[in-house]
Amino acid sequence: MPLFPAGHAGAARFAYNWGLDLVSNHLAARRTLVVPAIRQGAGREEAKCWADGPLGPLPWTLPALRRAWNQAKDSVAPWWAENSKESYNSGLDALARALDAWSKSHRGARKGRSVGFPRFKTRDGARRSFRVTTGAFGVTDSRHVRLPRIGFIRTKEPTTKLARLLDAGSARVLSAAVSEQAGHWYVSFTCEMDRPVPQPPAGPAVGVDVGVKSLAVLSTGEAIENPKHLSKYRRRMARLQREGSRRRGPAKGRAPSKRWVRSAARLGRAHARVAAARSDGLHKLTTRLAKGHETVVVEDLSVAAMTASAKGSGLWRGKAGLNRAVLDASPGVLRRRLTYKTAWYGSTLVVADRWYPSSKTCSRCKTVKAKLSLSKRTYRCERCGLVPDRDLNAAVNLASLVESPTSIGIASGAGTGRGQLPVNAQGEERFMGSPRCSSTNCEDGSTAPQGQRTVTATRQQVAPKPVLVGSDR
Ligand SMILES: [Zn+2]
Repeated sequence: MPLFPAGHAGAARFAYNWGLDLVSNHLAARRTLVVPAIRQGAGREEAKCWADGPLGPLPWTLPALRRAWNQAKDSVAPWWAENSKESYNSGLDALARALDAWSKSHRGARKGRSVGFPRFKTRDGARRSFRVTTGAFGVTDSRHVRLPRIGFIRTKEPTTKLARLLDAGSARVLSAAVSEQAGHWYVSFTCEMDRPVPQPPAGPAVGVDVGVKSLAVLSTGEAIENPKHLSKYRRRMARLQREGSRRRGPAKGRAPSKRWVRSAARLGRAHARVAAARSDGLHKLTTRLAKGHETVVVEDLSVAAMTASAKGSGLWRGKAGLNRAVLDASPGVLRRRLTYKTAWYGSTLVVADRWYPSSKTCSRCKTVKAKLSLSKRTYRCERCGLVPDRDLNAAVNLASLVESPTSIGIASGAGTGRGQLPVNAQGEERFMGSPRCSSTNCEDGSTAPQGQRTVTATRQQVAPKPVLVGSDR
């Protein structure tokens, strides 16, 4: 298979870097005008306005970047016609988004981690990808896709399901994203499609505890085995790593040896294989849960906090091995997939607030322990003598959150009973109740806001599934 989409991905990167250079230069030039103006007593906004006179407005929205690119492309990239114009557009689009995220983060208008100023994409460092939104593209039959400029491609995986939907007219392709992972090229179609209003599945509510020992434990007593692909492949990866370290890697002013490139590619493929197998296990589990249960209750685990640092603080101190196990089990992915799949199949996802002491409550008599260390894998109730498995105990408690809302302190009038948790316009509902958790040292070692518990029910989202189109090998 030739490197057919690589040129387009390279074009996207070229446009991204070109636009970033343009914006950086513009910002630098503006600074040289704005700073002295402010020193002479002008206001910041006033100075910026004044600088826009000789410089022109900062071209950092997608339309502005596109205009600038179309004016400059003949001189900076005379070869531009070799690739679809969509590829340059997707690079500029990515840049506009990155600049917007940086600007919002800078002004404090963006949630989450602070976003830095965009950086140039290197040839080897950046993931190769581009997106197509207009032109001749789509799924042509059960084995072929079409992309602008590239033409018809036979896929390695069947595209039957999507082809049928398109033929029947019940789906419409909006965009195609082409990307590379470990030498394989994938295409992902974002579609708009009709989905019949689903009937809620008949199965009872199920609590899911994302464990460390097993992938998940259900309140029904079933333990889903952890896909320990990473452990299975760890030795092989270690060997490849050693092999690579003996070969001549890249350094300043020196290209890596061909053998080094080869073993790096092999290691990348091993990682990709593990990721694919793990992803498959999670897809199967989440589909089964969303299809078979009226309500699925999960814990709001903060994966970032759990795996933040091996040195860390509090409960998760010194847990490098645990970090690996937690990431291996991918609780974040589990929750994200449950979010959209429950919407597809008509079930409801309930996310218990992170302060809900699911692990520390006895699932029979509801006594809450003040502290339960993570290393204790079984729960032992001092009051009624129940000794369940720790994860199972937590799963049962999560399920009971919707089975009998009143018994665990959810305010009356808010919850209307079994699986009927109300969803407001934002798809989120807060319940205030008397706290069972009397300890301030809560579930994850932080201080709980006393007397507050959040139950979130979320709906609808579609994630495109990529189709393998070919590989470089
Ligand atoms: Zn008990």
